[in-house]
Amino acid sequence: MTTLNTTHDPKLKSWVASADVAGCDFPIQNLPFGRFRTAGSAEAFRIGVAIGDQVLDLKAAGVVDTDDMNVLMAASPAQRQALRATLSEGLREGSAQQAAWSKALVAQSAVEMAVPCRIGDYTDFYTGIHHATTVGKLFRPDQPLMPNYKWVPIGYHGRASSIGVSGQQFKRPQGQTKAPGSDPAAPPSFGPSKRLDYELELGFLIGQGNALGEPIAIADAEQHLFGLTLLNDWSARDLQAWEYQPLGPFLAKNFASTLSPWIVTMEALAPFRAAFSRPEGDPQPLPYLDSAANRDGGALDITLEVWLQTAKMRAAGEPATRLTQGNTTQAAYWTAAQLVAHHTVNGCNLQPGDLLGSGTLSGPTLAEAGSLLELTYGGKQPLTLPNGETRTFLEDGDTLTLRGYCERDGAVRIGLGEVSGTVIG
Ligand code: MN
Repeated sequence: MTTLNTTHDPKLKSWVASADVAGCDFPIQNLPFGRFRTAGSAEAFRIGVAIGDQVLDLKAAGVVDTDDMNVLMAASPAQRQALRATLSEGLREGSAQQAAWSKALVAQSAVEMAVPCRIGDYTDFYTGIHHATTVGKLFRPDQPLMPNYKWVPIGYHGRASSIGVSGQQFKRPQGQTKAPGSDPAAPPSFGPSKRLDYELELGFLIGQGNALGEPIAIADAEQHLFGLTLLNDWSARDLQAWEYQPLGPFLAKNFASTLSPWIVTMEALAPFRAAFSRPEGDPQPLPYLDSAANRDGGALDITLEVWLQTAKMRAAGEPATRLTQGNTTQAAYWTAAQLVAHHTVNGCNLQPGDLLGSGTLSGPTLAEAGSLLELTYGGKQPLTLPNGETRTFLEDGDTLTLRGYCERDGAVRIGLGEVSGTVIG
């Protein structure tokens, strides 16, 4: 785990004034990486760092000589920390770089963002134990949590080709559905999903990979994590219920997944780590999933929120409404280090830019639920929105936004930004 250093000093201010405004997602203590270009242009995307409401163009500032985020992500942890120190020093009040670097700033309002790196492979885990239990009750009332859940981090291999960046619009998926309890001999229905949902997740992005056949020990796992984004794992629940046995999710999940554009690094998250422990009476992780460092600070303390704006709200000029708010420390049964150690324990090789989804991070109460499936009791109890509209699942024109931020006494608040996506008919 990265230790605190001068880049986390809460007293640091930037010469970029907007970064010093209280409540800003991107103060000088954050320094997340993304890929940007001038909005509406055909330029190649290049690497930038968010600072306040600006983007620092890293190549124009003379800090990197590549446009390839995956090259940056494959750097050694020591190189990454050196780059963070360079950025922090150059953006500080009184820095000698101010004159040169101010020419390398672009307003975030004038850029468009790409998926932050080239994602070769995507694995989605299922670490949200409250989500797993609630959803399990809906799908299998007799056995909500499978006997393996508390021993093995459950996951499935997702699809990278349909991953988009915040602002993604996608068509409502169609597919096969069959109502539970319907005549087993009757054919399934075919058509647009009627139970389209979101999943509130974190997306961990791999930095340095491992060679095929050489597992990453849990003690080294954090060194292989570059950072994280918000991830919305859109899910068609009716397709999922019919197709998921025996091999797990397939077309219910792979039509779209959306990431926030800024990768918040593990270094930036150092002040927001939390102890990891198991509830009394639960099994302890097997030795390959356990370490003192993971117990002391393997968890993350991130507040997550879900916001919805319907087409009708948008037309009336009404803002999005917040559906839920929760915290990752309450939600995740496995840490990011455990996911890396588990994913590679059989020799599987991770590569720079690979994405590991956390699974839906629902807290213990309904007010912290990370999906509509949970919030509406499987679609049985509609939500009423401030304008009187109701929702069981997403309707065409709905824009769903996830937000995340970290706050702790003695540290400057940092934000993950947001990820929005809209379903179209
Ligand atoms: Mn998921």
